Amino acid sequence: MSLLPALGATLLAILISGCAKEPETSRTRFEAMGTLVEVSVFGEDPAAGLAASAEVEALFDQLQMRWDPWGDGELGRLNAAAGSAPTLTVAEDLAGLFDGAAVISRDSDGLFDPAVGALIRLWAFSSEEMLPTAPPDPEQIEQALAESPPLDDIWQSETRTLSLGPGAAIDLGGFAKGVAVDMAIELLREQGIEHAIVNAGGDLRAIGRHGDRKWRVGVRDPRGEGVLAAIDVEGDESVFTSGDYERYFIYQGRRYHHIIDPRDGYPAQGTTSVTVIHREAGLADAAATALFVAGPQDWPRVAANLGVSQVMLVDSSGTIHMTPEMEARTWLIPDPKPAVKIQPLPTP
Ligand code: ADP
Ligand code: MG
Repeated sequence: MSLLPALGATLLAILISGCAKEPETSRTRFEAMGTLVEVSVFGEDPAAGLAASAEVEALFDQLQMRWDPWGDGELGRLNAAAGSAPTLTVAEDLAGLFDGAAVISRDSDGLFDPAVGALIRLWAFSSEEMLPTAPPDPEQIEQALAESPPLDDIWQSETRTLSLGPGAAIDLGGFAKGVAVDMAIELLREQGIEHAIVNAGGDLRAIGRHGDRKWRVGVRDPRGEGVLAAIDVEGDESVFTSGDYERYFIYQGRRYHHIIDPRDGYPAQGTTSVTVIHREAGLADAAATALFVAGPQDWPRVAANLGVSQVMLVDSSGTIHMTPEMEARTWLIPDPKPAVKIQPLPTP
């Protein structure tokens, strides 16, 4: 598995603030959920930071196994049982994740929908080692779409049951990393740690402070090598980006990437990246995916429905769309400056 893209994104977030004077720090890196995860703890005895970070690593290992849609953990077994019974009972910890995902799915009008698992499998974006070289047959896409009703329609929270028909599958790839980061921060707090960053491949949640400066995070230029924007983070905030450069292939001159529009079963058009800042990493992660699908016209409405107010969307012509809240705290790096469109959100 290539770590290069993840490594690049992670380093981006760190290098920008490399000149800051930091208090005593422990920093741990490991690979999980297909990306490089880095846990940084500030203002603690380094040994305590390292011990807590080791627990975070164990947590990520466990979640990766349990939430892998195609492995032999809880979610993998559920997907493997699709169609074997009218309803399947979902393990308790997974049920909490389904509850959260179903709400976001509903609030985003199904633009974020983990029930697109069959389509992700068909497009073969679930395997990072081997990206596909050509799109699937249109008939197969039609069939996978027909077999994939939205999560909110097939999930019964009260009974913890899922009506997963033959061919259908749940893929939490647009949400799980964020939830894992939230759980990691929770775990660090339980250890008494107040200042920390959990960074998963450039997506992160920060708590507390980092010396006498804010922590500067870089947003990658979706079509260049460098940094498109810099954002200062402090307190308790998550910054998550979904981009079409993470996993993609080019076929006959067209880019096919891993964020699928559940309305037609094809990679969402019109957007190259979306960054969302929100307190919870889980919502920031899923919202970035949803707004990517919503695209340059519809994203303000969907963001308002999801309750996220700090959004930056780069469209395929390179124009940067931002809410006023995002604009107020963002430095655009390229010179000359890219075109910018400020869009207040409608009242939902
Ligand atoms: P990354 O994982 O690269 O940070 P995202 O958070 O946008 O990017 O998640 C993309 C992943 O989400 C895909 O690999 C797939 O597993 C899943 N996914 C793709 N399209 C959707 C969608 N419309 N709704 C929910 N999940 C999706
Ligand atoms: Mg996401």
